[in-house]
Amino acid sequence: MSDPHDRKVAIKYNDTSLKEFCGICGEITHPEIPLDLFMNDCMKPVCARCGMKHAPELVRILARYYEDLENR
Ligand SMILES: [Zn+2]
Repeated sequence: MSDPHDRKVAIKYNDTSLKEFCGICGEITHPEIPLDLFMNDCMKPVCARCGMKHAPELVRILARYYEDLENR
């Protein structure tokens, strides 16, 4: 098991919809506005697949956030 305090991934503000390469696997990903997953130590985005692998709880928080936005 990995240390739960050793966080590779963080939720960060995002204001660009440019295509980017995932900081973990290198696949093309499309960060969502205004919040999405990024590497903790830099502004490289993290794709959904790596998010599920490294920070599933953050993916759930984001999913909940976007659900709430749609239902507003
Ligand atoms: Zn990835």
